[in-house]
Amino acid sequence: MKDLSIKILYISLAVFSIISSETNLKSMAMKMKLFDAHCHLQDQRIIDKAPQLIATAYGAGVVYFAVNGITEKDWHLVKEMSDEYYSVIPNFGLHPWFVQGKSPSWFSTLKEFFEANPSAAVGEIGLDKSPLAPKGVDFADQVEVFKKQIELAKELKRPASVHCLDAFPELLRIMKDIGPFPSGVILHSFQGPPEVVPELTKLGSYFSFSGHLMPLQENKARKVVKAVPLDRILLETDAPDGLPKNPLFLVPGNETLNQPANVHSVLIYVASLLEMSKEELAEISYKNAVRLFSFQGSKVLLE
Ligand SMILES: [Zn+2]
Repeated sequence: MKDLSIKILYISLAVFSIISSETNLKSMAMKMKLFDAHCHLQDQRIIDKAPQLIATAYGAGVVYFAVNGITEKDWHLVKEMSDEYYSVIPNFGLHPWFVQGKSPSWFSTLKEFFEANPSAAVGEIGLDKSPLAPKGVDFADQVEVFKKQIELAKELKRPASVHCLDAFPELLRIMKDIGPFPSGVILHSFQGPPEVVPELTKLGSYFSFSGHLMPLQENKARKVVKAVPLDRILLETDAPDGLPKNPLFLVPGNETLNQPANVHSVLIYVASLLEMSKEELAEISYKNAVRLFSFQGSKVLLE
């Protein structure tokens, strides 16, 4: 009899903890609003699952996604997705890895996309001298393509999402020549070095963290995160890449891929590095993203 009552007690405790942890997750998601400041829902690896991934993200409190095109070939997909979903902020840009394949008319096509889509920001653009850049991509070509696009962002008064790996001296030089950028520049998937943060901040930069920060040693990651002023912090997934080490959500059919709902996992990690509550960082990063993306013509309204 005693055994039985202990068993019942254990079972009821277990049931209670399952129910309360689900309720916690739900109420946390309901209270928090998050903004995925950089992702690629148009990517061939996930485009078929986009409606499902968007629904999962909504359920987790992720209300906006900045979806970045990478070549002329996918800008129309980003546009279509933005026409269908209010939460998709379109971004058009030529990524540094793909400069070789550009057509002679790439820049006039890009300008046409901006004329037709006042709610669009610029991205993904950038500079990459790291071993990750495909062989044969000419750096001088990257510089030329980047300059044209960052100039266009400044002229159009839109934020620009920038990929920069192993090319910070060149990036700073160009941004000083062309800048400042009062409409903002996003250093996407920023992993340091922390030394570049003050100058980039002065020029109008924001720093966006993703799962790409997680392979760094924790004390190194902490230095990077703490170097950034709180009013310049953004969170992103870079989905389908950048799967965090602690993913809360897996893409059905391919568990190596990332999705926007996992901006929660990034939030948890960055908040722990900053020794701040998740709620507080969610509020700060959401406000920063809304301020940055509520340019004239945008779907995002200043709250
Ligand atoms: Zn990206």
